[in-house]
Amino acid sequence: KTFNEFGLEPKVLQAITELGYEESTPIQEATIPLAMEGRDLIGQAQTGTGKTAAFGIPLIHKIQVKEEKIVALIMCPTRELAIQVAEDIEKLGRFKGIRSLPIYGGQDIVKQIRSLKKKPQIIIGTPGRLLDHINRKTIKLEDVQTVILDEADEMLDMGFMEDIQSILKLVPATRHTMLFSATMPMNIQKLAQQFLRNPEHVSV
Ligand code: AMP
Repeated sequence: KTFNEFGLEPKVLQAITELGYEESTPIQEATIPLAMEGRDLIGQAQTGTGKTAAFGIPLIHKIQVKEEKIVALIMCPTRELAIQVAEDIEKLGRFKGIRSLPIYGGQDIVKQIRSLKKKPQIIIGTPGRLLDHINRKTIKLEDVQTVILDEADEMLDMGFMEDIQSILKLVPATRHTMLFSATMPMNIQKLAQQFLRNPEHVSV
């Protein structure tokens, strides 16, 4: 499918064209319509399948540029992935003027607090540092409408289960939640059961 067929707004299509994407990948074709309907979903996909754009495109489509609150949270296992995802989100949101910010451990927290004052709408973060900001009240999750767990199996392997649970409990229950994972072990199924509502399972 070409991206014209999803009913995306022109500024998002413009960003996709700029990135040089012509046809949607299988995970994108399966995920974008469901995400645009607001369906919770579990996406089983490896890196390299285009999963970042699969959640990034409907997310950017949905967010209003006039928002001055954090309305979306993307959780990633590592600093490297957070940076990579943030770059992709920035490119997808460029024409709309969406503001996003990566937040990860090892980076100067004072610098992060300064960047947070620019009112990003999307935070892309690793669980430990996110929780640190939440405890300092430099990040508030009360207006978050969309949560994405990227490489959820990796996050659990790294011991982030408790941090993820603490964070998700602070996000309004009416949120839209999408979980991506390369594998579906028991602990991922449990996490999905605890925090997703009637999720659609998409596997590529
Ligand atoms: P990901 O699986 O999100 O790490 O994406 C893997 C690579 O595929 C990245 O370099 C993306 O920029 C690229 N990509 C994602 N979607 C598409 C698409 N529809 N057409 C061409 N390249 C894409």
